[in-house]
Amino acid sequence: MIEIQNVRKSFGPLEVLKGIDLTVDKGEVVSIIGGSGSGKSTLLTCINGLEPINSGSIRIDGVEVHAKSTNLDKLRRKVGIVFQQWNAFPHLTVIENVMLAPRKVLGLSKREAEEIAVKQLGHVGLADKLKVYPSRLSGGQQQRMAIARALAMSPEYMLFDEVTSALDPMLVGEVLDTLRMLASEGMTMICVTHEMKFAREVSDRVAFFHQGVMAEIAPPAELFDAPKRPETQKFLAATH
Ligand code: ATP
Ligand code: MG
Repeated sequence: MIEIQNVRKSFGPLEVLKGIDLTVDKGEVVSIIGGSGSGKSTLLTCINGLEPINSGSIRIDGVEVHAKSTNLDKLRRKVGIVFQQWNAFPHLTVIENVMLAPRKVLGLSKREAEEIAVKQLGHVGLADKLKVYPSRLSGGQQQRMAIARALAMSPEYMLFDEVTSALDPMLVGEVLDTLRMLASEGMTMICVTHEMKFAREVSDRVAFFHQGVMAEIAPPAELFDAPKRPETQKFLAATH
């Protein structure tokens, strides 16, 4: 379970998270939508401890992310994150890129890491690209490789930050299909996304962020079809 309580976060004088409360249960899929600069990415980076917070708390399975005593490396194995773009190591093949963290971070043998990489690359539909260099992959394939790389650490939670927004429209579908598959397998996920149709289909709840505040959170049918807050209504009207 991810428990976010009254989280505030500033960059210098700019307060970008103004008291966020959100609990995500095991197996739940929560999508976050909202305008540019509303704090969506910042929240994800706070959840896996890439950024400190100013006050409040974030706990993952009861472990306080920002406590001094917390082993962040260990925590990050549990919480995978995939960004809009991930720069793979160009001199390593796809499988070597995916094997890297299991080898270096988990200390697995070459054979063990290879086995995991083959499994996860197959899982995201890249079984035929193992020995290819990343530059030879399409954008959608590169994003699926990034997802496989995160999955290779056997995370219990996955955070996705606009993983399709740098892609050609033609390639968006295949990456969303991969996320749908993970959701249907019961992965606990927080997805920051601009893909409203996707958010509606896969999410248990959708949160709308506005100027550092979670203005509204509801099951997708409710949030999309009967938004309560004027900010949400305005945002949704603009995205149609
Ligand atoms: P987008 O939809 O454009 O990705 P977002 O909701 O993800 O937006 P954030 O990236 O969380 O927004 O940024 C929230 C605010 O924090 C923005 O005003 C941004 O300029 C600011 N910000 C983000 N990261 C930093 C940083 N490292 N240093 C200073 N300001 C930052
Ligand atoms: Mg962002």
